[in-house]
This record gives sequence, C-alpha cells and structure tokens, in this order.
Amino acid sequence: METDIQQPRQVEIDADRQVKAREYARLRRQLSFISIGIAALGMLFIFWSELNIALRDWLQPLNWQPVSGWYPWQVIVYFLLLMLGYEIITAPLAYYGNFVLPHRYGLSTMTLQSWLADLVKGLVLNLVLEVLALELVYLLLATQPQTWWLWVALILLFFTVVMANLAPVLILPLFYKFSPLPEGELTQRLLALADRAHTHVRGVFSMQLSSKTTAANAALMGLGNTRRIVLGDTMLGRYTPDEIEVVLAHELGHHVHRDLWKLIISQSVLTLGVLYLINLILHWAVDSQHYYLALADVATIPYVLLLTGIFGLIVLPISNGLSRAIEYQADEYALQATKMVDAFKSAMTRMANQNLADIEPSPLIEFLFHDHPAIGKRLLHADDFASRYALNASIKAESLAPTSSTEPTGIPSSGSSTPDSAH
Ligand SMILES: [Zn+2]
Repeated sequence: METDIQQPRQVEIDADRQVKAREYARLRRQLSFISIGIAALGMLFIFWSELNIALRDWLQPLNWQPVSGWYPWQVIVYFLLLMLGYEIITAPLAYYGNFVLPHRYGLSTMTLQSWLADLVKGLVLNLVLEVLALELVYLLLATQPQTWWLWVALILLFFTVVMANLAPVLILPLFYKFSPLPEGELTQRLLALADRAHTHVRGVFSMQLSSKTTAANAALMGLGNTRRIVLGDTMLGRYTPDEIEVVLAHELGHHVHRDLWKLIISQSVLTLGVLYLINLILHWAVDSQHYYLALADVATIPYVLLLTGIFGLIVLPISNGLSRAIEYQADEYALQATKMVDAFKSAMTRMANQNLADIEPSPLIEFLFHDHPAIGKRLLHADDFASRYALNASIKAESLAPTSSTEPTGIPSSGSSTPDSAH
C-alpha cells in the first residue's frame, strides 16, 4: 500500500499509482457521461411522450393558489416525481460510481451502511434546497414575469452568502466530525504565517476525513465569524510539518486573497447570465409558441431543468478556469510566504500518490473538468518560483557584494523558515 513507514527523504511520483489514477479518472468520467446521457434520454422521452403536459393535467386537483398563478403543491409534487424517477433509474450507477469504485481503488473507508446514511442525508438536504429554490422561481414567474430572473439571482446570491457562512457549523457537521487542531508546532507555525501576512485566522480545525476516505485534503471554509482553515486528518502524521505548513499557507492565501468572495461573486454573475437566457427562451416557448399555458405553468419544469442543465454544462469550464486561476495564486502565495519549494513539491507529490490524482490529464480534460491546476503543473510552478527566487537572490547578492552566487541558497530544503518553531 503506502510506503510512508520509511519516510523517504525524496518523495517521488509513484508510477504504478499514476497508471491506476488515469484508469480511475477515466472510469469516473465515463460514469458521469452515462448519467448525463440518461438525463438527456429521459428529457427526450418526457417531451416526445408529452409526459410533461400529462403530469400537469394529472396534478390539476392540487390547485391551492395563495398567489394568482402560483401552485406550490403542483410545483413540489411535479418536481419530486421527476427527481425520484431520475434517482431511482440512476441508483445502480450511483452505487457503482460512489461506493464500489472508490473501494476497488482503495480510496473509500466507508461501510455500506454509513454510505447509505450519507446518501439519504445528502439527498434530503438537496431536495429541500432545490424545492425551495424552484418554489421561489415559480412564485416569481407568476408575479414578476419580466424581472423574475433578476430577483432569483439576487435572492440566490444572498442565500449563497448565508449558506457559506453556516456551512461549517450547520451543514458539514452532518457529514464530518470536526475538532480544533491541538495546540502545538503546527498551530504555532500557522499563527506565525498569519502574523506575517498581517491577518487573523479564526481557527484551525481538523476534519475527520478518515471516516470516509483515504484521500488528503485541506480547505478554507466559512465566511465572517465562521471562517476557518480545515485540515483533513488524513494528512496529519503522514506529511512532514514543513509540508503541512505549505498546505496551510496555500489555504491562508485563499483567505488573504478573499477567494471565497471572488468565487461567490463570479458564480453569481454566471448565474445571472444563465437565468437571463433561460428567461428569453422560456418567453419564446410560452409567448410565441404557445406550448405552455403560462410562464408559471408547472409543465415548464422539465423545460427549465433541461435549460439549466445545458447552460450548467456550458458554464462549467468557465467557472473551472476561474477556480484554477485562483488556485494558482494561492500556490504562488504559499511559495512566497514560506519559500519552501521542496516541501511544496513533496506535499503535492504525496497528495498525487495518496489521492490517485492524475498529474498530467489531457489539456482538454483539464480545461473542461478540473477546478485545480494539474499536479504536474503545480510542480512546474514551484520550479518556476525557485528559479525566479534564485534570480532575485543573486541580483540582490550581486548588488551587495560582487561574488558569484548562482545556487538557490535562499531556499531551505527542509527545516523551518519560521524562527519560533520548535524543530
Ligand atoms: Zn486551494
């Protein structure tokens, strides 16, 4: 399995695990294409058989109408029937892709029972949020037919900010145990980093990832008073303190750059654009094709979901591109703040080996689906930083004293650059 027992000084990309990583990525991709295909076929069937109209007619008795044109019971039952149908049809695929496959590749530590419990929790949570969003959309379609998309985008923005704030205290604890990172060297190092960045970190938490996965991860979570850096327990003990410091510095970089806000704002702009286009296409179908009774006719639900799905796929590479740019900047921050190029590279290498990450996906795959730069690129980034840094150091040295200093002496390969750390 892992070769951590010997703690090799030079961590290297495991060639056998790279073969597995490519295989695993390919299988997962094929599975998502199959799910998208099933959803597309389902939609074709619904429109061809006019099930969308039949379902609406069948739900006519649920005609409670608190606001003229808005039928909340029809919306919720119509949507739940569609979603449950989809979930039932794709259940074998979900079981294979999210339970069988990660076990086969040694990435999951979940029992079937705990996996099912998470599945149900996630499903219920998603359905509740989706039903609320859809009710809002249909209420506004009934009352604000021209500006509904603007209102939906604004309310979603507000809701996203509230959820980003509440997620670490309300949502994520439903799935993971959190505990404050014990006082010690790591906490000291992070506080020193934050100090030098003239910023304040509200807390560092360890997240019990090991109850679900063997993969390592770290993240910046929360907004405002819930903002915190979270470190997966699958990292503790497996990575050297230097390596963890670089990872923490990357997360601190996200905080210093206000990246959660950047993501929320950019996502909201994309959502606004998508909603506006859906508005145009929906008006065309209702006003000039007269295919539906009204904008807020529940028979438009499959149509709205189809448009949302298509635009979601179109927008995905854009938001992934933004995310990769933000991640590159956080890597740059981590390298600048710690100057520990070797620790950065060995942390990335360990992560590629541990998480079965393909370090060199094809450019098209990376462009479409990856929200982080490929690890191969992140390693090159570190080398690029090292040569930039060495160049700077040698220019400085030359201006001080005209001696030859071309070796990158400024970069400690191990040991800490923080004066107040213990080792
Ligand atoms: Zn990041």
